[in-house]
Amino acid sequence: MIESSGLTLYGIIGHPVGHSLSPVMHNASFEALGLHATMEVYDIKPESLKDALESFIKLGFGGINVTIPHKQTIIPFLDDIDEEAGIIGAVNTVRFRDGRTEGFNTDAHGFRQTLEPYRSSIEGSRFVVLGAGGAARAVTYVLLRFFRTAQIVIAARTASGSKTLVEHFKGFHGSRLAASTLDDPHLSRMVRDSEVIINATPVGMFPKTGEAVVEGTEFRDGQTVVDLIYRPLQTELLRRAKQHGARAVSGLEMFIHQGARAFEIWTGKGMDIDRVRILLTGMLEQETSRGEGRR
Ligand code: NAP
Repeated sequence: MIESSGLTLYGIIGHPVGHSLSPVMHNASFEALGLHATMEVYDIKPESLKDALESFIKLGFGGINVTIPHKQTIIPFLDDIDEEAGIIGAVNTVRFRDGRTEGFNTDAHGFRQTLEPYRSSIEGSRFVVLGAGGAARAVTYVLLRFFRTAQIVIAARTASGSKTLVEHFKGFHGSRLAASTLDDPHLSRMVRDSEVIINATPVGMFPKTGEAVVEGTEFRDGQTVVDLIYRPLQTELLRRAKQHGARAVSGLEMFIHQGARAFEIWTGKGMDIDRVRILLTGMLEQETSRGEGRR
């Protein structure tokens, strides 16, 4: 039925996936290019991941985006993994082609594009990455491979979480990585001594927008604080960063660029990034002005 209608299906899978704006971004882009395709959200429990993949293949899906908690666990079920996704150890985009499944990591591309405008002021800096999940891996890969770094401190909820990430990148591009934890009494000082701080945890994300992953930390002029969260556009962490004179960078650019790269992998066509930015910024600003998420 799907084949005869000529409609190509795409999905975003996660558990839970309630607040994703990926369908808005991709459906608007399919329509703008006159592509007969659609993306929907699929809530897939971890134990159903393998069956779900088989169903997507049978149904003739073009591709899927993969989000929490499947980015690492999906890897053994895929036929091919591209080089970056293999190094990072996480997949956020799958293409179904000629009966095969191919995994990619477009978060790395999205994050690189986010940092590129600030390259001259952050090269050679000290970085703190908060979190040690799939996104933190993509962030660490980009920093090590594409930006000169004096040091990267990984601070996760557990010592084992940050140590695993540090071990994963041992020896990669002369990595200068140190493991810490979010409750380390020295973390405040390490944050203050760093030039770039990146939040790769979900703390502060809609609907719990009053939270910040590092409480009581004072940022300073000359720092760049990046929050991978894009909903809300201005997180509590970014609000505090700005208040102390730091540069605040939202996760929206990363979201748009990771989506654009996935779109290109699936369709072979470029997404109109400026148009998507206007669309998503408008939606997110409306959400903020309605006071949504202030819970
Ligand atoms: P993930 O693989 O599930 O990792 C999440 C990380 O955050 C883990 O280190 C986890 O620690 C930690 N964490 C979770 N809840 C926490 C809490 N309450 N306090 C402290 N740490 C906590 O997820 P991910 O894919 O890396 O995503 C992380 C964040 O980045 C999410 O907010 C996601 O929306 C965002 N993201 C944005 C983009 C974008 O395009 N802008 C792309 C990817 C991800 P444990 O290991 O201890 O659970």
